[in-house]
Amino acid sequence: MKIALIAHDKKKTDLVQFVMAYQPIFEDHELFATGTTGLRIQEASGLSIHRFQSGPLGGDQEIGALIAKNDMDMVIFFRDPLTAQPHEPDITALIRLCDVYAIPLATNMGTAEMLIRGLERGDLNWRNVIHKQGAENE
Ligand code: PGA
Repeated sequence: MKIALIAHDKKKTDLVQFVMAYQPIFEDHELFATGTTGLRIQEASGLSIHRFQSGPLGGDQEIGALIAKNDMDMVIFFRDPLTAQPHEPDITALIRLCDVYAIPLATNMGTAEMLIRGLERGDLNWRNVIHKQGAENE
C-alpha cells in the first residue's frame, strides 16, 4: 500500500516516534511524505521515503494529486490544531480529496494507531480491488 506521512512542525517528533514504533509494518509499504517530515523520518529510521516539496511549498498538493488519481491508500497527517498554517487552503483541499476518494485519513495519533493496526490485519485489502480496476482501465 502507498502511505502518505505529513506532520506540522509541532507534531513532527510525534510522527517520527509513531513511525519508529510501527517500523516493522511501515517497512512493508511504499512511503511518501512532505519534504521536512520525510527527511526527519528518514534520518531517524532509515526508511526509504519518496519526498515531495515541503508542505507550504506545495507538498500537500503533490500528495493530493496522487489521491486524485486514486493512487494513495492511506494518509497519516498529524495536524497542529493550535497553530495557524500559511497553507491552510492546501490542507483543507487534501482532507477534502481524502473524503472524495474514501481514502483512510488519520489526523491524530489515536486514529493513526487504529489505521496501522487495521492495515496489518488486512482491513485495507479492498484497496487492491481499486488498484486492479485502475490497471484495467489504463
Ligand atoms: P513539511 O510539510 O513536512 O515539509 O514540514 C508539512 C506541512 O507543514 O504541511
